[in-house]
Amino acid sequence: MERDLKKLISLMTLEEKAGMCSGQDFWRLKGIERLGIPSIMVTDGPHGLRKQKEGADHLGFLDSVPATCFPSAAGVASSWDRELIEKMGQALGEECQAEDVAVLLGPGANIKRSPLCGRNFEYFSEDPFLSSEMAAQHIRGVQSQGVGTSLKHFAANNQEHRRMTSDSVIDERTLREIYLASFEGAVKKSQPWTVMCAYNKVNGTFASENDYLLTDILKNEWGHEGFVVSDWGAVNERADGLSAGLELEMPPSGGGDRKIVEAFRAGKLPEEKLDRSVERILRIIFKAVDSKKPNASYDPEVHHRLARVVARESMVLLKNQGGFLPLVKGGSIAVIGALAAKPRYQGGGSSHIKPTKLEDIREEIAKSAGGGAQVSYAQGYDLDTDASDVKLVEEAVRAAAQADVVVLFAGLPDRYESEGYDRTHLRLPENQVDLIQSVAAAQPNLVVVLSNGAPVEMSWIGSAKAVLEAYLGGQALGGAIADLLFGDANPCGKLAETFPQRLEDNPSYLFYFGEGDRVEYREGIFVGYRYYDTKKVEPLFPFGHGLSYTTFAYSDLSIAKKEIRDDETLDVEVKVKNTGNRAGKEIVQLYVRDVESKVIRPVKELKGFAKVELAPGEQKNVTIRLDKRSFAFYDVERKDWRVETGEFEILIGKSSRDIVLSDTVRVESTTPVRSKANRNSTVGDLLADPVTRPIIATILQQRNPVVAGGEGAGDASDMMEAIMKYMPLRALIAFSGGAMTDEHLEEILAQVNGEVE
Ligand code: BGC
Repeated sequence: MERDLKKLISLMTLEEKAGMCSGQDFWRLKGIERLGIPSIMVTDGPHGLRKQKEGADHLGFLDSVPATCFPSAAGVASSWDRELIEKMGQALGEECQAEDVAVLLGPGANIKRSPLCGRNFEYFSEDPFLSSEMAAQHIRGVQSQGVGTSLKHFAANNQEHRRMTSDSVIDERTLREIYLASFEGAVKKSQPWTVMCAYNKVNGTFASENDYLLTDILKNEWGHEGFVVSDWGAVNERADGLSAGLELEMPPSGGGDRKIVEAFRAGKLPEEKLDRSVERILRIIFKAVDSKKPNASYDPEVHHRLARVVARESMVLLKNQGGFLPLVKGGSIAVIGALAAKPRYQGGGSSHIKPTKLEDIREEIAKSAGGGAQVSYAQGYDLDTDASDVKLVEEAVRAAAQADVVVLFAGLPDRYESEGYDRTHLRLPENQVDLIQSVAAAQPNLVVVLSNGAPVEMSWIGSAKAVLEAYLGGQALGGAIADLLFGDANPCGKLAETFPQRLEDNPSYLFYFGEGDRVEYREGIFVGYRYYDTKKVEPLFPFGHGLSYTTFAYSDLSIAKKEIRDDETLDVEVKVKNTGNRAGKEIVQLYVRDVESKVIRPVKELKGFAKVELAPGEQKNVTIRLDKRSFAFYDVERKDWRVETGEFEILIGKSSRDIVLSDTVRVESTTPVRSKANRNSTVGDLLADPVTRPIIATILQQRNPVVAGGEGAGDASDMMEAIMKYMPLRALIAFSGGAMTDEHLEEILAQVNGEVE
């Protein structure tokens, strides 16, 4: 319905306008009854909804209504499945409609800078392209149901340690290419109704009052149309925040509205600014009102089944020695590990929800194992301590020895990983490592199933024949694990993050946590595989890795054109064939490498992917479209994305370390790159530019025979040429033996800059 929002705002008092810029309570926005503005509700997110009936807290301590608990983002991202994530979003949106929730707080698009970050389970990837694609699909799905989202936490909130006061100090190119790019794609593609600013500072200014992030980039550059909400309690100075583009304060601090009124009265806050903020909020309120579906409901069983599909697609088969999995049905299986009885299927903190039901892992395994199967269980370890319990270990070893095969459930207990704090190491609790080793000694047929939200070190990996990474698989994890273990479903997830051999290999290791509140991102753009692959550090499992029970062959890579301009798109086609005897899905990954570059770049970057389903023997064509951004870097000087003219390699991979096909394309930049020459421009740079080359070459010959490597240079001409390359124009005067003066230099500069003929 069309409404005249400006007119509505003109009817408001100053206090009413300021009041609209903060919530009514923990989860509701304010309404104004006399003007027909209703109060709408927002709630956490992201992988299920946490609507609290009575009382309110932002860390999920108090009870909430039952809702479907889908796998958390770390798992969902490993599906690399755009359609599936959208479907999950739709289901979340339906649940919000049924519960009268207008905005679901999520998804989180923060980059996994370090595997230590306590909240990585809620984030998608170490790669900004994959992360932004996943976030965009999540948003699209939820919003298709007339429910808003809140893309969070904008920006550079990559650790929980001192998260409300720390300052993420990041150079501009890294910020743009890695940390912002993860949000940018999602904002541009899917227009989240709201964006949630982060708690931390970014380059010295709180994200909640960061004009550069909230207004220059988010609103002006990316065209975000909705409003920005503070993370709960992120507001520092309320009036500064409003000026910078933070429209809504949550939860209301009490004094925020008054500070807005005072700033307005003191002439520090222009009326248009306040009006524009209120307008953005009203637009979303009415959007929610107009898309409200009366009497909406959902079928929890249908959503539960979807949760099982999502879980299945999200799990990653990391290791499968000699095709040990899938397990043969009907044998005797020892299920070992407390995490089988008390599964870890979601993370701690604000995203913690009350599931509609929870599948029992042991029951699901027994069901899948079939009629004649014998399934025993031993606890093996205590989740509340790291210390081994001899009795529990002995009991587990006995059960293992008596069975044909062991499925051992290991992972991170809640106390290891949560919103609010980071891990300090990547190891599993010691009692779990001990157990794996003791059990493996008694029973070599050992499968380890991991439940964790982020990578762990696996000193024990040699003891296991197979390892399934189940991540935090949501309420249907039990069935999903059983489906995969017994081959009723074929694993098809691939890692959206690198699993390092050891924590110390991670590029942020030397700087992570920072110094007090100052956290310098000194590894720059070399995050995740960008670092491991460029530095040739062998990971435990590389980015993009994941096994299947079938095999795939790639062929016929074809690139639509061998030469393009950077304002054109490029279609890359490749054939993928299922060469095994089971149906399966493959994730085709496309990486781009700039063959030669003046700026420092990683050896490859993910720029496209597709998931394809293939019956045994079936072959399909996969097409991936590339555009300017696939080849560009962020040019800090020009404050824009720029492609450097030249050759680029197109790499098709099964993972970032398993490149199976490649070809090259030449991309011509359409951005004029020449900047004005000055006294300190080097001779080499000017000689490398075809336009300025003849001018400089002539001058060198006429005025500077020694430097030009001509007469007088003798045997040292190579050295002279090299030295000359890095010589600034001004230095030619000193080496010209009087043949050149300052006046000549001015003339040369005028000529080079095209100011004279
Ligand atoms: C979290 C947000 C969450 C909010 C509301 C904050 O502590 O960082 O992700 O949406 O609380 O619960």
